[in-house]
Amino acid sequence: MERKLVSIQVVESLAPIEGADQIEQARVMGWTVVVKKGEFRPGDRCVFFEIDSVLPSSAPWAEFMRSRGFRVRTIKLRGVLSQGLALPTTILDGEVPEVGTDVRDRLGVTKYEAVLPDAREVAGGFPALVPKTDEIRLQSALGVLDEMRGQAFYVSTKLDGSSATFFRAPEGEFVACSRNWALAPGPNPIWRAAERYDLAKRLPPGIAVQGELCGPGIQKNRLGLSEVDVFMFGVYDARVGRYLDFADFIGFCKEYGLRTVPIEREVRGDEALHFEHTLDRWLETARGLYAGTKNRKEGIVVRPLVESRSATLGGRLSFKVINNDFLLKDEA
Ligand code: ATP
Ligand code: MN
Repeated sequence: MERKLVSIQVVESLAPIEGADQIEQARVMGWTVVVKKGEFRPGDRCVFFEIDSVLPSSAPWAEFMRSRGFRVRTIKLRGVLSQGLALPTTILDGEVPEVGTDVRDRLGVTKYEAVLPDAREVAGGFPALVPKTDEIRLQSALGVLDEMRGQAFYVSTKLDGSSATFFRAPEGEFVACSRNWALAPGPNPIWRAAERYDLAKRLPPGIAVQGELCGPGIQKNRLGLSEVDVFMFGVYDARVGRYLDFADFIGFCKEYGLRTVPIEREVRGDEALHFEHTLDRWLETARGLYAGTKNRKEGIVVRPLVESRSATLGGRLSFKVINNDFLLKDEA
């Protein structure tokens, strides 16, 4: 699900910040956000901007963000983590739509995208038969906690690289894709990965395999790899329109000699039945380092062992939990 970057939300509660008289902390969905003191009362509606919103530089209500380049990011104010931005609905200058409504376009907000350093040649659009890779942040979809409760699940490490999708159409054509595009065959790292595993020949028709390309020159190479490789996190069968369950996904990768993202734990049986799915516990679990490095990991991705549908997400049940330490110290 594409997250709602800017939407109408409810300020659930407010709490003072020690030593601060101009600001206080508000709770919006699962987020803690610092707001101007007295601007909201509990239950008020607000316009909530998620992290990586880029505000329009011409709007008077956004002017105070000029020194920050108009980009909303995770910051710490008086020792309090602020994730997002809550502004009064008066900035809408008109009728306030119902809670949950996406007002990104109405306000002219765009999303910050880190640009990859190497320009890659685009061969065409992303294959329509395959879902693009994406994960919703837990704090934006707390309903998934209830949906996960009692289910067997697994936790993988979220790698901070670049998304890659390899797909053979049911009619036979093979494509290697970045996050949003099919790439022209050439010396780019995604096609090199395809060659390394001979995917153009070996991938069965209708199957897409998706992973994170990591290594030197990609993001900050926090895994400390000496060469680029791809770590798979999903296998999709386009003929039936479904991702393979965990066991089949692992089996598939074994058969094709593909690496997977690190699997941190598998939780099943009694442990799954009694697992305490709370935001705080997940935030704690998301902390830590990439194994064998001194680099903070970006976070984790949580999915049921057996694929299931999420009403909250309107699609596949799966979410990411970003490591708050990573956000504060490492985000460029
Ligand atoms: P946001 O949705 O928060 O705006 P974004 O769309 O840029 O951010 P990311 O934060 O990069 O998305 O998270 C989703 C991406 O994480 C996926 O597209 C995938 O490329 C990558 N990823 C890395 N590790 C994993 C993993 N273990 N499981 C699933 N996806 C992973
Ligand atoms: Mn996303």
